Amino acid sequence: KCSRNFAPPGGNDFQALSSKSGLISVRMIRVVMCGGERLEERVPLAAKASFEGVWEWDLPVGTLTASQRFLVLVGLPASPLYQIDDWFSRVHPDDLPWLFACFEGQEGKTEPFYIEHRVSDGNCGWRWLACRGVAKLGEDGLPERIAGIVSDSSDAKAAEQRFKQSEERYALAAAAASDGLYDWDILTGKIEYSPRWKSILGFAAEDITDSPSEWLGRVLSDDLIWLQATLEEQVRPSGVPLPSFTIEYRIRDAGNAVRWMVCRGMAVRDDCGNAVRVIGSQSDITDRKLAEQQLRQSEERYALAARGANDGLWDWRLDTGETYFSPRCMSMLGQPEVALIDSPRRWLRCVMAEDRPGLLQALHSHLSGDTGHLAHEFRMRRADYTIAWCLTRGMAVRDGNDRPVRIAGSVTDITERKKAELRLQYNAFHDGLTGLPNRSLMLDRIGRAIARLQSGGKHFAVILLDLDRFKSVNDSLGTKTGDLVLTTTAVRLLRERRPSDTLARLSADEFAILFEDIEPGLVMAEALRATEAVKRPYILENHNIVFTASAGVALSVSGYDRAEDMLRDASLAMVRAKTAGRARIELFDVRLRDHALSRARTEAELRRALEENQFELYYQPIVELGGERIAGVEALIRWQHPERGLVPPIDFIPLAEETGLIVMIGRWALEQAAAQLVAWQATYPGYDKLFTCVNVATRQLRDDNMLTRVKEVLTATGISPASLKLEITESELMTEQNEAEPTMQAIQALGVRFSIDDFGTGYSSLSYLHRMPADTLKIDKSFVQAISEGREKAAIVELIVRLAGLLRMDVVAEGIETEQERQFLRSLGCKYGQGYYYARPMPADRLGILLERKKPLPVAEET
Ligand code: C2E
Ligand code: MG
Ligand code: MG
Repeated sequence: KCSRNFAPPGGNDFQALSSKSGLISVRMIRVVMCGGERLEERVPLAAKASFEGVWEWDLPVGTLTASQRFLVLVGLPASPLYQIDDWFSRVHPDDLPWLFACFEGQEGKTEPFYIEHRVSDGNCGWRWLACRGVAKLGEDGLPERIAGIVSDSSDAKAAEQRFKQSEERYALAAAAASDGLYDWDILTGKIEYSPRWKSILGFAAEDITDSPSEWLGRVLSDDLIWLQATLEEQVRPSGVPLPSFTIEYRIRDAGNAVRWMVCRGMAVRDDCGNAVRVIGSQSDITDRKLAEQQLRQSEERYALAARGANDGLWDWRLDTGETYFSPRCMSMLGQPEVALIDSPRRWLRCVMAEDRPGLLQALHSHLSGDTGHLAHEFRMRRADYTIAWCLTRGMAVRDGNDRPVRIAGSVTDITERKKAELRLQYNAFHDGLTGLPNRSLMLDRIGRAIARLQSGGKHFAVILLDLDRFKSVNDSLGTKTGDLVLTTTAVRLLRERRPSDTLARLSADEFAILFEDIEPGLVMAEALRATEAVKRPYILENHNIVFTASAGVALSVSGYDRAEDMLRDASLAMVRAKTAGRARIELFDVRLRDHALSRARTEAELRRALEENQFELYYQPIVELGGERIAGVEALIRWQHPERGLVPPIDFIPLAEETGLIVMIGRWALEQAAAQLVAWQATYPGYDKLFTCVNVATRQLRDDNMLTRVKEVLTATGISPASLKLEITESELMTEQNEAEPTMQAIQALGVRFSIDDFGTGYSSLSYLHRMPADTLKIDKSFVQAISEGREKAAIVELIVRLAGLLRMDVVAEGIETEQERQFLRSLGCKYGQGYYYARPMPADRLGILLERKKPLPVAEET
């Protein structure tokens, strides 16, 4: 029977332990000392050589056999007989349960065990023993004998302990090299403060004792509770060792000023897990705290401002990956405010795929320090799949090594602004009426095509299309109808155009098409398709109106560097199409450009000519065939060019007509001729019926207020209206008949007469001639000069003279150069003649001489 004569350490624990299994209580029997020698006889050498004590416990008998060394290590006095209790009685009460448990646990086990325990060193201290053993089991599986060795492990234990402590200290010290250190001995209740600890608070070494109140007494009461709680937590007995703590608190320094401290520390525990000391460090973080406070304030201010601006806020800690997106970030995307967008990745997923690389690039540029701040516009997809334009602004916070550790910023919904911008942009590049691209966009597209061609791209062409007589629609049917014509034209051209082509409206009735990727040989066909589309009748307010278009084409093969040049050339070709009779397509070639250049030069010169009075009127007599007296004169303009000398009208009148300068020139000619006539009539008696013919361009009838002009001239000079004849060429009359007619009639009503110049070249119809408010036909000189060439041409002259007779119109034959022509015309009954045969056009003073002589022409010495 087991008799336990030792007090179980830990009381209840041990009883609970031993009653769980009957092993120890059953086997706990007295052991008889068989003498250390017996065992050492068995393993004499090993036992002697070893520092280890050998033991063997015979469980059925209850004896403990032990070597001499064992007795020394455990501290047993010499005795003839040992029991297991003798060993146990020396064991540290805390270790006893573990030792028992270990022996108990040998039931059914054959592998060795290892346990460390303390025994009394007989000096009020404890010695660590390492104990190894192994059980020999009986047939019932219960241990019959347990044998093993013990050795002294105190030194190793102490070293281990020291190592652990120094490691902790080192860690703490390393954590804060310049920190103040403290070491609080819990048993004595004293705290050792390092000199640095004291100086941080502004104290000299001798100012501070080792009392805890030196520390805790200065802590602000609000923070003291936390500091104390933290320290208590740290020293509370606990199975699991607590990690070191860190706490920030406020303390009053030597000057009674409040300072912020960060305090770190950890408990040092004894082997039973009881805290014996708390050691640690603390440092002054007042500056950091203030900075943080300021930052927080400014962040709060910013957050407030952002909330006011309805911006979303975000914050991304690059070191931890933690992110924050404010509720507004969610609502901006139409997400419920609680929606979890918790990572930049998830948020980025809402960014439109096309815009993601740009955003990432901007972010990267800022994080890598290339840009001072992040500012980027991009599109996001809302929950309802609509698009939101966003502007994000942000700034990275960097550590001491300038590495970004955090980036925070805002997101603004700029959708409305963006829409307005896009609208503006659209308006800047599109025509308001038709919605077509405008001139700027067309130039841009041509520019791109030029760039593509220059880097090996395909050829292209530009066609410029202008509606003929569009202005008259605007004038007669109103601008609303005019707009309808333009939009209809736009639609038609859009339909005809190939998808890759750009159609633009350049100005009022001017359209342009850019044909991309087209063979030069196919361009004219495309241009024709466009002009044909215009030719289909337009149905306008029950009117069926037919338009034509004049078109000019410029080809990329001409080699352009600038879009403007190409468009200008197409425009030149178009103007040429207009002047060549409209409703045609002209292809630009270089001669056109040269012509345009010289034209531009001449135009400038013409303006100067007007200002500097470089024009002069020459006069050519018109004689009565038969009497050969001077009946009238034709005023023919000359330009006394400072360098080119006398310039004939053919070289500048057409340009003056095109540019509209003819209006000013014509006004001058009319006034000049009338004034000259008055002078002659007054100077040379017998010439009071002398008439003057002034050439008038239809553009003058259209643009100038011709009726008023003529009235003014009549009143200013006092000439009789009948002595003024206005000459308009037949071909011009034919093209402008409807426009010119009313003005002509009004002028005719004044008594002024009209003469149809160059008659025979304009193919006017009889019915038209009949209606015309003109009373003179001027046979074109080409017919007159053909008289000598043969019967057929002569017949035309005869016909015109007869026709004039039928219409009761006067006839003037111009360009008479020979006596034969004169005679032929006279024989036909042609009333007047004009030509070199009689006299060449001459300055007014020379004509005055002719008038003075009153002789029939030709004057022998003059011709
Ligand atoms: P036009 O009105 O038919 O003038 C007659 C032209 O024939 C004149 O040429 C004249 O010099 C020329 N001529 C006269 N007799 C003969 C002849 O026997 N043989 C030949 N070969 N030619 C003869 P010019 O002066 O060079 O004027 C040319 C045209 O310029 C005029 O043709 C007229 O249409 C226009 N023109 C002249 N002055 C003015 C003007 O002040 N205003 C406008 N709008 N046109 C003008
Ligand atoms: Mg004339
Ligand atoms: Mg003529």
